[in-house]
Amino acid sequence: MGGNLPFEGSPTAVTLVRALRRLSGPEVVIRSVSRFFQTPCFPAGAGPDYVNAAVLVETRLPVAELLQRLHRVELEFGRARAQRWGMRTLDLDILTCGESVLPDPETFRHWLTLPRETQLQAVPDRLIVPHPRLQDRPFALIPLADIAPDWVHPVLNRSVRELCDALPAEDIAAVRPI
Ligand code: ATP
Ligand code: MG
Ligand code: MG
Repeated sequence: MGGNLPFEGSPTAVTLVRALRRLSGPEVVIRSVSRFFQTPCFPAGAGPDYVNAAVLVETRLPVAELLQRLHRVELEFGRARAQRWGMRTLDLDILTCGESVLPDPETFRHWLTLPRETQLQAVPDRLIVPHPRLQDRPFALIPLADIAPDWVHPVLNRSVRELCDALPAEDIAAVRPI
């Protein structure tokens, strides 16, 4: 989860806590929450710093339905999709789902290897899991390492810890617990 714009006058960290409360219920059980981190805006210079966190949930819902719920919570907290990777009050993404590779390994590989410029325009119309840019993102991996350091990426065959270790040192240093 992350955001870099206030919602109703409250800072992002407050939005994240409220969103977690909204998400939590009998069908979506929150098992653990990482520390909150202040992270540089992505893409660099495109707005204020973000606050990011990672959350482990247990649910019997199909993962596509979980994503729909996440989108509803985003909307409740003021998310507007004006611009790809634009500033936002709240972004809730699914980073992983156990060992699943969705929708299928071939489609996953397509998104994994998409050049960066194409990624900017191409928005997937269906759920891709693991999140196809997880391995490139200190703001996702470092929070994830708080709650699931030993989870192994089912395609890259690397643990979260190993993926973190592969990041440039200055990118790791720029993700600071708050
Ligand atoms: P990014 O995906 O690079 O983090 P974003 O989170 O800003 O960018 P959104 O506008 O939130 O992008 O989502 C774009 C579309 O991506 C959504 O419509 C959603 O259906 C799709 N999507 C595919 N895979 C995932 C995933 N693992 N988690 C969240 N959304 C996903
Ligand atoms: Mg995102
Ligand atoms: Mg998103």
